[in-house]
Amino acid sequence: MDVLEDPMSFRPVAGRQYSAGIFPLFAGDWDKVYRQLETLSSHSQLKAIGECGLDRRSEISLAQQTEYYKKQAELAVSINKPLIIHCVGCWSELMAAYVPSSVPFIVHGFRGKPQLAEQLLKKGFSLSFGPLFNPQSLMICPPERYYMETDANQNMTINQVAQIHSQYVTGQKKCNYR
Ligand SMILES: [Zn+2]
Repeated sequence: MDVLEDPMSFRPVAGRQYSAGIFPLFAGDWDKVYRQLETLSSHSQLKAIGECGLDRRSEISLAQQTEYYKKQAELAVSINKPLIIHCVGCWSELMAAYVPSSVPFIVHGFRGKPQLAEQLLKKGFSLSFGPLFNPQSLMICPPERYYMETDANQNMTINQVAQIHSQYVTGQKKCNYR
């Protein structure tokens, strides 16, 4: 996947689908990029907003990360496209930064324990699991809130991930997100 620091340089390839968002580790001008993201968000090949979210390792303040997480969550709701959430070490902050969701708010690469999965599900989040996951968490995730992804292992196809999950789930939906 290409990572663009300037959304205005986005040149979509026909037939492909994209997601765009401000990654919590992004070191540029968040305000400028957010305005560009708003413009880009209605593009028909843009299918989701994100990754956005909170990351404890970022040099950007948590206050700023939270502010822009909320903005992007509201943007996703306003254009009726799903939100892809990246969260490292900030679970309570993520749940506290509540934005009412009428679209899927998908926490990607979820490897947490079932207790955390349950809290997130109760708050309305969906969960996306890759090849590495906690089987108990996957088993308590209802089919309509469950997604899968290849993100953590890009040599693996989404069908291989589905195969690994299949012993734990019944209904599968492909997030097909890297
Ligand atoms: Zn991520």
